Amino acid sequence: MPPRTRRACLLSTVVELLPKQPTTKGPAELFTGDVYFDVIIRGGEPSRVRVNTVRFCPGARTAWHTHALGQTLHVTDGVGLVQARGGEVIVIRPGDVVYTPPGEWHWHGATPDQFMIHTAIWEGPAAGAETEWGEHVNDAEYGYPSRSDWSCVAAQLARSLSASSDAVPGSAV
Ligand code: MN
Repeated sequence: MPPRTRRACLLSTVVELLPKQPTTKGPAELFTGDVYFDVIIRGGEPSRVRVNTVRFCPGARTAWHTHALGQTLHVTDGVGLVQARGGEVIVIRPGDVVYTPPGEWHWHGATPDQFMIHTAIWEGPAAGAETEWGEHVNDAEYGYPSRSDWSCVAAQLARSLSASSDAVPGSAV
């Protein structure tokens, strides 16, 4: 009997290996710069779970938007930025988990000089739009290279890097 394929083995149990869907480029009307996403799961009713891996090239970001039932982001690579309307720009790094509550306007993306990859987790509402999209995050809002409070972001990065070096055994600090 020939060896079974990995898919055949999995199908014979309680789990299933799903076919890989092609990577999709984020449309220009919703994103600035180059963004690519992979659908990990899009639940069929009654499940309405949505999980995407989203890869932002340097400088790329979403437009302003809100999620009907909120969204959780888990950063897995690179360095990114997130901002809620009226709030400061926050640096996000691998391991960070960011939650945006339902209806909160926000954007997320890469820093100007780094890639950023996150897993995005949200749910579709029983009725109505999952996501409401607004205007693009323009260069003044994104703030590169001359954002007035960019020093805030730089300070966060410095603290983050400092915290990393502090963790090295034998560090003098
Ligand atoms: Mn979002």
